Amino acid sequence: MKKHILIVEDEQEIANALAARLNSEGFAVSVADNGVDGLDLALNEDYELVILDIMLPGLSGTEIARQLRAQKDSAILMLSARDDENDIVDGLNIGADDYVTKPFSAREVVARVKALIRRRDLEPTSTLRGVSSFGALTIDSLSHSISLNSKFVHTTPTEFKLLSVLCSAPGTVFTREELVETLSYEPDTNLSSELISHTNLRTVDSHVRSLRKKIGPQFIRTVHSVGYSFEINSEKTQVSA
Ligand code: CA
Repeated sequence: MKKHILIVEDEQEIANALAARLNSEGFAVSVADNGVDGLDLALNEDYELVILDIMLPGLSGTEIARQLRAQKDSAILMLSARDDENDIVDGLNIGADDYVTKPFSAREVVARVKALIRRRDLEPTSTLRGVSSFGALTIDSLSHSISLNSKFVHTTPTEFKLLSVLCSAPGTVFTREELVETLSYEPDTNLSSELISHTNLRTVDSHVRSLRKKIGPQFIRTVHSVGYSFEINSEKTQVSA
């Protein structure tokens, strides 16, 4: 279940520092120290995100980004030296998602990585489209309405969003931190973990409690000390656009 990240960086000290930090944040990490191996891994494995240094032996990070973008949908974060401004522009034009300029702190890179992954998680696959039915529960993302056994259920915008996110991946456990971030998500805003206060986590709990009162307890499962998941019961599920 760990998200897998590839680091392509020939400066061992930087690669090790990033790998250690990402590991400690719960990511699985692979490292390549040259462009050829980096491209090979990036194309043949499935990485959530690839961190690409631009100046690499063998093949440049920009070239790797070009080939990777044509074949895979991994997010791409470029690392660049300060004087690589043209390379940064090239990289972004090719489809890199973001870049960090050296020197940087591992902490800063991890924050960017998390922001990119979060952004991807929130993109279309995680957004309900049209009308989705889960047993007796129907969620209409156009009219932002929920009905249970064909009866309209009044929900607040936050409750609706929370349920939509949970329903976007039935059976998947969302941590309370992820849910807080989703609920407060604004494009182009990097929400730092410091902002996820204890109070916000408790707020998620109270929204879930309120939703359960409205739609019944069976749809949202509590995963103790982790978060919540949407559960489809044995009833048939239909999704129509
Ligand atoms: Ca380099």
